[in-house]
This record gives sequence, structure tokens and C-alpha cells, in this order.
Amino acid sequence: MNYDYLIVGAGLFGAVFAREMKRRGKSVLVIDKRNTIAGNIYTEKRMDINVHKYGAHIFHTSDREVWDYVNDFAEFNNYINSPVAVYKDELYNLPFNMNTFSRMWGIKTPSEAMAIIKEQADKEISRMKSEKGTDSFTADNLEEQALSLAGRDIYEKLVKGYTEKQWGRDCKDLPAFIIKRLPMRYTYDNNYFNDRYQGIPIGGYTAMVEKILDGITVLTGCDYYEFVQLEDGAPKTPFTSVKGDTFGKILFTGMIDEFFGYRLGTLEYRSLRFETQDLPDVDNYQGNAVVNYTEREIPYTRIIEHKHFEYGTGKGTIITREYPATWNHGDEPYYPMNDDKNNALYARYKELAKEYPDVLFGGRLGQYKYYNMDQIVREALDMSRSEG
Ligand SMILES: Cc1cc2nc3c(=O)[nH]c(=O)nc-3n(C[C@H](O)[C@H](O)[C@H](O)COP(=O)(O)OP(=O)(O)OC[C@H]3O[C@@H](n4cnc5c(N)ncnc54)[C@H](O)[C@@H]3O)c2cc1C
Repeated sequence: MNYDYLIVGAGLFGAVFAREMKRRGKSVLVIDKRNTIAGNIYTEKRMDINVHKYGAHIFHTSDREVWDYVNDFAEFNNYINSPVAVYKDELYNLPFNMNTFSRMWGIKTPSEAMAIIKEQADKEISRMKSEKGTDSFTADNLEEQALSLAGRDIYEKLVKGYTEKQWGRDCKDLPAFIIKRLPMRYTYDNNYFNDRYQGIPIGGYTAMVEKILDGITVLTGCDYYEFVQLEDGAPKTPFTSVKGDTFGKILFTGMIDEFFGYRLGTLEYRSLRFETQDLPDVDNYQGNAVVNYTEREIPYTRIIEHKHFEYGTGKGTIITREYPATWNHGDEPYYPMNDDKNNALYARYKELAKEYPDVLFGGRLGQYKYYNMDQIVREALDMSRSEG
């Protein structure tokens, strides 16, 4: 058959793009190498709980068009992300707000909190200036940056261990720019996000993506590299599948460096390992969907209790421990490492992609950029518009 578009990846980007092109009267075929749709927002139902298989996903946006768009495919609940941080035997609310400061220092008012943070930060800056023998202060690493912004208590208890686990490196060996700001909220507000709209699709993300893909042919368990005819590591033109289907254009949402056979080098990622436990005899394990563990000695960064995303009250629960991991070839690439070295390499791949004007690259792997879900929907809508 002759299709206008081959869409590689049935994640959120591929699904929205496929739907929008179909709506414009184009013929589309979607393939995904996984046996499931929805990419990393895939949820699977067990024990009447929607398990976020590839990590906790909370939809949040200030983009009204995007919010209206996703609400056409799912009803969203009123979930507000309010994570809790555990440091040794102490519990703190996140993001850093008056509840956090009150618990840390036994104070009540914003002015008391501001004074303590300023005093601690100033003390660290003076110490570092005198150690460096300079009059002006510039942070040389992430530790210095965080201490100069938040003071020692917040850094030691809530930033240091968590960040070191996330990056697999000591804060002294991490660049300062990773933490440009440490947002402090001087109100008693535990809502993690500042966005206007927030929630979880009732019934899970897979059901939402299923609806987006309604009426579109999706082949799962189908790897692009086995599906299309390749010539010198690139798709043969006209784009043709091994079975003889032809395609006018390709939207590729997999890894851009892999698409080009890594000929310019390999882009790096941080990976994650998830350890999920079904607890049929425990109804409420931690009382919150997301609990962060900020001590370095605890190897995971957080525990997710999935039922709380949808206010579940049934029997049993399911939890997932999230362990940051070094990425090696073949591992799941979760977070692009958008440092100078990798961004420069990506720019060269982007340049190379210009030689293939009929191949579009989309999503977090195709564009090598960390995108939240709302940004993915926005990008996919914009791309479909520019395709006409
Ligand atoms: C741990 C974690 C937590 C997150 N939490 C949030 C959150 O709370 N809120 C939020 O807004 N965003 C969150 N995100 C971001 C969110 O996951 C992404 O925005 C979204 O999943 C990206 O969609 P995508 O379609 O670009 O990529 P993906 O979901 O990765 O989809 C790409 C698809 O392409 C397929 N594919 C790749 N290569 C091939 C190939 N060769 N052949 C066929 N198919 C292929 C893959 O199998 C995959 O299904 C989080 C991300 C992570 C990693």
C-alpha cells in the first residue's frame, strides 16, 4: 500500500502527529518496536491500579490549547503533585516552601525563613571567598552554587545526596550551571508545579493514547530497522518497507544518532532502573504518590505508590523504587545529557538530517531534548500544522 507517512514510534509525539495528519486527510502507518503503544507514558493495569511502567508521569501545563487537546481523549482528575522528601528520620514537604522551612527550623513566618536562608548563604559565600582568596564570588561547582543559593541545611539535607544519586557523581564534580536557581516558595503551598492545569488521566495514559490512535493502523513489535529497506545505513528512496509498502515521508521519534548508524558519534543519556513490587496485603504503603529519598546512602531516589495518582482506595498496593543508572548502549535512554559536548554532537546530526528533507525528527529522542508531555503535544501539533 501507498502511505503518505510512516510514523516511527507510538509514543505521545507519534500518536498526536499521526492523528493530526489523518485528520488532514493523509494516510498514516504507525510502527513501534515495543509490544505496547504510548512509549514511556505507558501505564498497565494490575490489581485495579494503573502502574506508570516507565516512571511517574504527571500532566501539567499552562498551554490552554494543549490542555483542551488532551482532555478530548481522557478525563483528567484533580491530582496535584506534592512530593515528600525523607532525610534520615525527618520528613519534608517539596518544593522548598514554608512547610519545609517550618519543619527544618521550627519557624512560622516568611521573613524568619528568608533571614535564615540569607544568613546561611552569606556565611557560605564568605567562607568560600576567603578560601579562594577572592573578593567576588563565582561558584566553581554545583556544591558551591547550591550552598550560595540555599545555605548549608537545605543543601545537606535535601539537595546533596539526591543530586549525587541522580548524576552518579559528587556535587563538587558537577558543573554549577545544573542548578541555575533553587526556587524557594515563601508560602505554605506544596503544589510542586506552577502550571495552571494539572492532573492524571482517569484510567491511565495508555487508554488516552489508544483514543488518540483510534482508527489508525499501529504495528507493535515492529522495529524500523527491520521494517524499511535500508541502503548504506539510510532509508532507501522512495521509502519502501521490506514488504513493498511505500511512504511519502517518515516521522522518526527514535534516537537520531541511531537513525544515522552513529556515524558522527554516540549521544549520551542517563538511564533509570525501576524495581516494582506488588503488595497485595498492604493497602497504603507511604500515604503519598511520590516520596523522594534524599540521603546518598539509600540507593534509590524515590518510591512511587501508583494508586495515589488516582486516589485509589482498593485492597493492596503497588510501589516502584527508582534507581538512577549509567546509560550504556542497549539500555533504555531516559534523559538526554544536554551538556555542551552532547548538544554540539546533536547539532551536527541535525545538520546531517537536512540531507533527508522527507524525514522529520520528533520527540525527546528524535530532537535529543528533555520534553515534558505538554511540550511534546505542542511540538507535535506545530509540526503537523507546518506539514499542512
Ligand atoms: C522517568 C520520567 C518521568 C517523567 N515524568 C514526567 C512528568 O511527570 N510529566 C511530564 O510532562 N513528562 C514527564 N516525562 C517526560 C515524558 O515521558 C515525555 O515527554 C514523553 O514520553 C515523550 O514522548 P515521545 O513520544 O517523544 O517519546 P517516547 O515515549 O520515548 O516514544 C518513542 C517511541 O519510539 C519507539 N521507537 C524508538 N526507536 C524505534 C525503532 N527503531 N523502531 C520502532 N519504534 C521505535 C519507542 O519504542 C517508543 O515507544 C518523564 C520522563 C521520564 C523519563
